[in-house]
Parts: sequence; C-alpha cells; structure tokens
Amino acid sequence: MKILVIGGGGREHAVIRKLMESKRAQKIYCAPGNGGIGCDAENVSIPVSDISGMVRFVKQNDIGLVCVTPDDPLAAGMVDAFAQAGIPAFGPNRAAAQIEASKVFSKNLMKKYRIPTAAYAVFDNPADTLAYLTKQNHYPVVIKADGLALGKGVIIAQNAVEAENAVKTIMEDKVFGASGNQVVVEEFLTGPEVSVLAFTDGKTLKPMVSSKDHKRALDGNKGKNTGGMGTISPNPSYTEALAEQCMKTIFLPTLAAMNQEGRPFQGCLYFGLMLTPDGPKVIEYNSRFGDPEAQVVLPRLKTDLVDIFEATINGTLDQLDIEWKDDACACVVLASGGYPEHYEKGKEIHGLDVNGQVEGATVYHAGTVKRDGRFYTNGGRVLDVTCTGQTLDEALQKAYEAVDKISWDGMQYRHDIGRI
Ligand code: ATP
Repeated sequence: MKILVIGGGGREHAVIRKLMESKRAQKIYCAPGNGGIGCDAENVSIPVSDISGMVRFVKQNDIGLVCVTPDDPLAAGMVDAFAQAGIPAFGPNRAAAQIEASKVFSKNLMKKYRIPTAAYAVFDNPADTLAYLTKQNHYPVVIKADGLALGKGVIIAQNAVEAENAVKTIMEDKVFGASGNQVVVEEFLTGPEVSVLAFTDGKTLKPMVSSKDHKRALDGNKGKNTGGMGTISPNPSYTEALAEQCMKTIFLPTLAAMNQEGRPFQGCLYFGLMLTPDGPKVIEYNSRFGDPEAQVVLPRLKTDLVDIFEATINGTLDQLDIEWKDDACACVVLASGGYPEHYEKGKEIHGLDVNGQVEGATVYHAGTVKRDGRFYTNGGRVLDVTCTGQTLDEALQKAYEAVDKISWDGMQYRHDIGRI
C-alpha cells in the first residue's frame, strides 16, 4: 500500500519510521517532509494548507492511506476532504479537531461533562479581562489564547503587570492573530505533568504508553515555553493506579462527551495532564500526536501502525490488540540558538551520516534541508536525538552520547531531560 504522511517535523519522521516497519507499507510519501525525512520517504512539495492539492496528489498516485498529523490542516478540515473523496485518512474531522483548535470549546466541554480541569473564565475583550484580573488579584494566573499558537499561546503571569502585558500581547497586539480574539483565564495548577496519547475510533479508546515533555527552553525549567525540548517514556509519575483513575474520570468521559456533542473523535487524542494534589486534571487536549511525545512513544509500539490507523478509521479498534515494548525511550531536541524567539536558519550541521543519522541513536529530523549531500538547519527545532534502553537512565545516557557527536553554529539543547 502507498501511504502519505502530512507534515514535516520530527513527529512525522517518527510516524514514518514506524510505518516503515510495516510489511504493508510499500511506499511512503511525506508532504512537505524535510531533509532527513527525504532519506526515508519521498518528499512532496505541497504545503500543508493546500487541501485540494493534497487530495489531487493522493488520487493521482493511487495512495491507499493518509495520516494527517499537524493541528492546522486538521482544524481546517483536511480529513473531511479526504473522506468526501473516499480516501481513508487517519485523524479527526474538523468538528472533532475543535477539541484542540479552541480552548474555549474544550474548557466548556470539560465543564459541561464534569471532566476535572482548572477553574477558568472566558473573555472576548481586553477591558473585561483586565477588570476580572484586577478583581481576582490572585497570582500566578494562566492566560491562554483561544486558538492555535504553535504551543506558545499560554502565558503564566506572576503579577498584575505581567498579566496586563499578556492581555495586551494576545488581545491587542494580536501576536497570535485571530487565535487571540478570545482568552481563557485559568487557575494556576501545580504538580507533575504527564502526556498520554490515545488511539480512538470514537467507540473504543486505547491509551498509549505515557510520556513527559520538557516545555521550557532552558535547563532547570527556565526560559520561555517552547513546542517541547525533550521527552521521556514512560513518565515515572504515572502509576498503574493513576492510569486507571484517568481512564475512568478523564479519557472515557471525554470520548463520551465528544459523542454526545455530535463530534465523534477518530484519530490520536492527546491528554495533557497535571497530577495535582486534588487528583489528575486536564491541562489541554491535542487532536493529534504530540511533538516530541510521538518520538518516544512510537518507538515502543510493537503492533503494526498501518493496522492501527485502519482500525481507527474503520471503527474496529476493539478487535485489535495493541502491544508495547517494556523498554524506555528518551529524546533530546537540538534547537537553533535563540529558539523559541529569533533564530537563524541555514547553518551546516556536522556529525550526521549521509542519511542524517548518528551511530547508536535514531535521529528524527524536525527542521532540516539537504543540499549536495549535506544537512542544514531550517527551523527552530532541528533534530530529535532518540534512544531506547532497558531503563530510562540507559536511554538518556545513550541519547546524550549521541548528542555529543552533532554540532552546528549556535546549537542549543537542554542538558537535564529526564532529570527534572
Ligand atoms: P502545546 O499545544 O504545545 O502542548 P499549548 O499552547 O496548547 O501547548 P498548554 O499545554 O495549554 O499550551 O500549556 C502549556 C504549558 O503551560 C503546560 O504544559 C503547563 O506547563 C503550563 N500550564 C498550562 N495551563 C496551566 C495551568 N492551569 N496551571 C499551571 N500551568 C499551566
């Protein structure tokens, strides 16, 4: 079968590497892909925003399965377009993707169906937001842009001045565009964070192994929030008992709530959780594989990913046993100097072999281009150096040994992934 993966980051590279293990995958395309992905799949230069272009390409090339991975095309209805054309596509439709695309929608959903989450209020203008913040006068407080913002639309304000700046940035300066038309002001929660991705066909939900992201740019959880600087799986804080509790109080109620709302969710549903002193609460939902969570979760998957995608699309997930390896996995993200703020592209990357790999690790490419056999940086997050091991310590040690072999001008990464 020919398969098309849509997107061009480290997460898509991890999906492709797992699909390559399937006997059923004869040829894999990736649109738009990147320098490293091009060593494993055929890059197709169609932008992810070009829905009709994607459908045309799939029809012309007799592609039997599509995986729509990034949030933007899901929110724009790419899976609906494939469905209309009779092409099996993994991912939620537009209506279900709202669970990530609008934080106002997801918070209201959780409130309506009593799914544990932080207390919140919603505003659609700066004056009301500021009046509420002044009245509450309780810090830290979390201010979130309603819409998609590349993982950067969340500001934790420590005091009134920071809160005012956050409201200005989101609602007046419109740094995140229309995503900032509304804001959610949220109670600040504390506790370890856990990411749980789950496959669901709308009727059955099968959680994957747990993971933990490290969102801040700098060591010691300092610096700005990023798309994610490194991950480990399993998450040491997530016990069997907590997994059972989350299934009962969060995962299944979310599935039921989406059905109740007439928005059945089929695809990968991501639960961003915080283990608060009052029990696990939802910080956010994503409507797709997390990045860089997929990079540590998918290497541990034993079951054929093509079979899982099909069962999810066909509504037969209850008939499929999904198996996982017992080992651990660690991923260290190598980023351009200055990320998540201003950074330069086009730096030559040293230490990679001709396929963009280093010995002893799997290097998923997040933002690279390949020219004349050499790799160059082409984004904020550039490479995801990933290792498995019998223990988390072993996986981390191997990952950092592999990191030492790679360099470019300005390369930055966290030295404390899995240690904090
Ligand atoms: P992404 O899509 O990249 O995962 P996002 O922009 O949707 O990110 P959230 O996951 O909602 O943002 O929040 C980003 C981070 O901010 C969380 O991982 C958490 O560390 C922190 N955060 C969010 N909400 C709260 C809260 N209510 N209390 C404390 N911390 C929070």
